[in-house]
Amino acid sequence: MSERTLILVKPDGVERGLVGDVLARIERKGYVLEQLSLVRATADQLAAHYAEHEGKPFYQPLVDFMSSGPIVALVASGDDVIRGFRVMAGVSDPTEAAPGTIRGDLSRDWGEKVQKNIVHGSDSVESAQREIAIWFPTGA
Ligand code: UDP
Ligand code: MG
Repeated sequence: MSERTLILVKPDGVERGLVGDVLARIERKGYVLEQLSLVRATADQLAAHYAEHEGKPFYQPLVDFMSSGPIVALVASGDDVIRGFRVMAGVSDPTEAAPGTIRGDLSRDWGEKVQKNIVHGSDSVESAQREIAIWFPTGA
């Protein structure tokens, strides 16, 4: 069944000029871009988006990082796109992410308190619905 996922190109991806690479991978895979926006995340958006991580040691560094520059928010659609994009992204830790994945190919450890790993992708149908509403409040 076709579904939608929320993808973010994080500030490291935008700053390093990797937006086109990420978008090209999504398009070449065959997923469809439904919404696309270059934005600066507000404190409220980040608090909502990362609510599950509040209180963890990397939470404040993560919020500071995500506020450090513009991000690209997008909605992509396709059958099993939520799982499919997570596979394309690779695991969270850039050092462990497999070559061929976005994180494995394009990110590395920089010795910081937060892992700068280029992209976010929703992890479930429920998360996707919640996150799409945060980044595209007028509807997607
Ligand atoms: N993160 C981190 N250190 C950790 C766990 C997470 O810096 O030990 C950051 C990393 O940028 C990650 C984000 O917090 O992408 C959200 O964590 P999550 O476990 O949800 O990973 P994701 O779903 O992004 O793979
Ligand atoms: Mg997550």
